[in-house]
Amino acid sequence: MFNALLSSYPPQVSEANLKHLKELSIDWALSHGVVIRPPADLALANNSSVIHAPLALFPSPFPKKAFEKGLLLQPLFNLLFHRLTKDNEYIKEIMNENNCRNRLSKGDDFIEKLYNIYLTVNKEGISQPISLSISRSDYLLHLPSGANEPKILQVEYNTIASSFSSLSTLATDMHRYLLKSTNYFDSSSIIKNESLPQNEAMDSLVKGIAKAHELYGSQNAVVVIIIQPNERNAFDQRWIEYKLLENYNVQMIRKTLTEIGQEGRLDPETKALHIDDKEISVAYFRSAYGPADYLTEKDWDIRLLIERSRSIKCPTVAYQLVGSKKIQQMLTNPGVLERYISNESDVQNLRSCFAGHYPLDASSEGEVAANLALKHPEDYVMKPQREGGGNNIYSTDIPKFISGLSLSERSTYILMDIIQSPLIHNFLLRQGELIEGDMISELGIYGVFIGTSNSDFENESIVNETAGHLLRTKPKETNEGGVASGFAVIDSPLLI
Ligand code: ADP
Ligand code: MG
Ligand code: MG
Repeated sequence: MFNALLSSYPPQVSEANLKHLKELSIDWALSHGVVIRPPADLALANNSSVIHAPLALFPSPFPKKAFEKGLLLQPLFNLLFHRLTKDNEYIKEIMNENNCRNRLSKGDDFIEKLYNIYLTVNKEGISQPISLSISRSDYLLHLPSGANEPKILQVEYNTIASSFSSLSTLATDMHRYLLKSTNYFDSSSIIKNESLPQNEAMDSLVKGIAKAHELYGSQNAVVVIIIQPNERNAFDQRWIEYKLLENYNVQMIRKTLTEIGQEGRLDPETKALHIDDKEISVAYFRSAYGPADYLTEKDWDIRLLIERSRSIKCPTVAYQLVGSKKIQQMLTNPGVLERYISNESDVQNLRSCFAGHYPLDASSEGEVAANLALKHPEDYVMKPQREGGGNNIYSTDIPKFISGLSLSERSTYILMDIIQSPLIHNFLLRQGELIEGDMISELGIYGVFIGTSNSDFENESIVNETAGHLLRTKPKETNEGGVASGFAVIDSPLLI
């Protein structure tokens, strides 16, 4: 059924109706806060203008079975990554010590700085045993030529600043509106209301933050969302702030790292973090995931200050480290999953969504992988330890790139098999214009986990939930997939 749709989607609509759909979508998005700040050259004074977020005009077909598998896997991934954060020996092995082949923290300044914060705070003793994880596991459909049934393969697992939960929830509502308000959106009866799954992402994330705030246990405390200066995706974040206030009566303040540097302090006795004399219950990061987020060394001091504090971190530095692409590569090695997940069928389920990953270090596997990448670059993507899109090296760019790296630099990358996604025709709406073409969709499943630092596997989980989804769609010509980085648009799945 899914395969049959690949050549007949989206439903045929006339030019006039397409124009009408475009207008309806733009106005619905502007009316319902599916918006971002405009690029600098279109902005009005005092941040007083917005544009609609980039959107898919039609929901993109996605196999129901594969979608449900993603939902099913999420509590397992939540648990797996929490257990990884508590495995100090493994983190040390991968980041630096014991194994001189890896030495990730030595070839990569950014990882080294995070790792140093991790070591410092572990040595001093952590002052907050509870952590909040808002993660997103991203998948592409894999349908190599000749295969009958597409399956999901994990692209990556995000443990910091997993964004677009609010706008994604609203994208489903927009597709429902288009269906209801026109009688041609589904001229061929493929798009049905019941095939557009409920998306709880916005509410689930807010509920997770509210629960962490409650566990912190101080009535007058507030949540801080740590943002990038000049954030264009501010409204995805504002929705969280408004819902937290309306539904839970919890305030969320917005601060950059630099602002916290000016206004924040730690109580030397209790380690409570205060910003502007407000005590901080939860420090929720939507920044600090890449080198560019640390404008000066002082910003690194602030990250350390927050990590030392009694606030509940979302995420902790340990979570950020285990979200690295290197750990995702290591997880595909035989026997690693089994250390954290005891049930055999759970292990098999997790493993079934892993694509081939290879080290690029000085080990014999690393040498073999580097040679393969030089010979058959079109089969691989090369990834550094970075987040936020725009960092990977693809296909025929790989050989020249690898040849320019020293061995210690090469070791900070991993190699991954290219996932072969089916193409689906759609129209993307960006800055008021439609772009028609063959598209690739990437499914994200959100997870909320509140855990403790208990060293055993008992009493470690307070909340473990699957927390809604995101579908991002990009033209097939584009390698990267980020929305904020300008490659993809927000979509919603049409379950087939
Ligand atoms: P980031 O953390 O920067 O988002 P990702 O691993 O998600 O890094 O890679 C960015 C994009 O590159 C993805 O959204 C996807 O579109 C594409 N991509 C990554 N890995 C693969 C892969 N193995 N096969 C095909 N495309 C991939
Ligand atoms: Mg990422
Ligand atoms: Mg990604």
